[in-house]
Amino acid sequence: MSRFRQFLYVLSCFFFPERCIFCNKTIEPLQLSCSECRTAISKVKPPLCPFCGSHKEDCKCQKKRHAYDRVIAPFYYEGAVREGVLRLKKWDDPQAVSFFALQMAAAVRRELPDLPFDAVCFTPMIQKDLRKREYNQSELLAKKMAQLLQLPFCDALEKTYETKPQKGLDRAARSGNVLGVFDVKEPFSAHSVLLVDDVVTTGATAHECAKMLKLYGAETVTVSTIAITPPPQKETSAVDA
Ligand SMILES: [Zn+2]
Ligand SMILES: [Zn+2]
Repeated sequence: MSRFRQFLYVLSCFFFPERCIFCNKTIEPLQLSCSECRTAISKVKPPLCPFCGSHKEDCKCQKKRHAYDRVIAPFYYEGAVREGVLRLKKWDDPQAVSFFALQMAAAVRRELPDLPFDAVCFTPMIQKDLRKREYNQSELLAKKMAQLLQLPFCDALEKTYETKPQKGLDRAARSGNVLGVFDVKEPFSAHSVLLVDDVVTTGATAHECAKMLKLYGAETVTVSTIAITPPPQKETSAVDA
């Protein structure tokens, strides 16, 4: 950035202060996050368990299989990242979308450098909720990732009826809550899909979406998400954000 542009940018921040992409606090210009959040980011270190996406040594999933083939996330869903994901559900901050999509794309590239995907899809919202929120954060992330990874974006799935929020339900109730609620829109011809979801906790939603994609001919479904549930007793590390 040239000095003049930097000056204009700092001046604009005086009138429209920058906000931390995680906790929404006002921050210094030219930063994405506050110093507290930078030390409260919990990164998933490789090597990853292909089944749950946790660091292999932290994994407690006992190789539980889902309809998707693997899940790749840059972060664990706790601390600043959890706040950032919740903030993204309330505000479609383009800086937060870019930051998370960049981290997700980097994790996918590191794990699958050949990028063997025909399409980048996302977990859909029901029309009524979409009208209320005006955007689907998973769709924004998927569009950005398709652009970053130079892959075709595909609006392949739809949610066909309303469900209770997954939050507050136990694992079994979450699976039952989303059972059969997704469908594939026509036409759909991808064999290897990168499915983007903002956060994967029990994996019930991603499982249902992957099941439908496979029913319509997809051979592999890789889930890319901002964050996964942290396994018990793992260490926290700071990254630059
Ligand atoms: Zn913060
Ligand atoms: Zn695992």
